[in-house]
Amino acid sequence: MKVLAITNQKGGVGKTTTAVNLAASLAAEGQRVLMIDLDPQGNATTGSGITKKEALPTVYQLLIGAATLTEVCIQTEFGFDVLPANRELAGAEVELIELDEREYRLKNALQAGHATYDFILIDCPPALNMLTVNGLVAADSVLIPMQCEYYALEGLSDLVETLRKVRSHLNSRLEIEGLLRTMYNSQSTLTQQVSNELENHFGSKVYQTIVPRNVRLAEAPSYGKPVIAFDKSSKGAQAYSALAREILERVAP
Ligand code: ATP
Ligand code: MG
Repeated sequence: MKVLAITNQKGGVGKTTTAVNLAASLAAEGQRVLMIDLDPQGNATTGSGITKKEALPTVYQLLIGAATLTEVCIQTEFGFDVLPANRELAGAEVELIELDEREYRLKNALQAGHATYDFILIDCPPALNMLTVNGLVAADSVLIPMQCEYYALEGLSDLVETLRKVRSHLNSRLEIEGLLRTMYNSQSTLTQQVSNELENHFGSKVYQTIVPRNVRLAEAPSYGKPVIAFDKSSKGAQAYSALAREILERVAP
């Protein structure tokens, strides 16, 4: 069992797209997958076909101890389970501060699910807040989606510094699982320069799989579907299937 936090404090880099589509693609490879929406925006929830109204209780109730994992967990029609979120989760940010073991709430709540899943994927919000800290403490490793643009590497050094702090104070086993290039435009020279620099710095931590810019990936969430259920032959669907296989090869070569 492996817990992956999909994280990058930079907004709009493809975290949620990666969480939903990697969950569906790992499930299609026969893996037992739980996807956790840790973002009050709730995009991973709706993108998995769960309407916010039926999504009660949510991760919020789980974190404050008002519901159990089983009570919050929803099965999707795409072969993976979801712990949903909605705007209410924004309140947890403040409320968690009052609670015991505030950084460990998610980790403790997930103990009950360890035997049930091969992969737990956590979609983190675009911030280094208490929710993200809960995600990083619960995780074995982080998967970092990034766009290969000018400021990406700068943002990455902030993230690496945060990971170092979490490692020394809260979760010593936290590793970098991999860096994923998203929304890739191979026509752009800048994209290629940043991509090369990324490979020089992080070597084999950079996934060979690259997710291209693909409009089907942007369209699928409005139908409440992962892209493999929406347009299986699209470049986006193929990329996330390839990523799932690359991750499985790394886990068990
Ligand atoms: P936030 O930081 O707000 O949580 P995020 O990092 O989760 O954002 P996404 O929501 O996954 O990012 O993606 C941002 C936008 O880009 C969305 O509209 C999404 O549909 C679109 N998008 C993501 N990946 C791709 C891609 N490979 N090709 C085209 N569009 C994409
Ligand atoms: Mg998101």
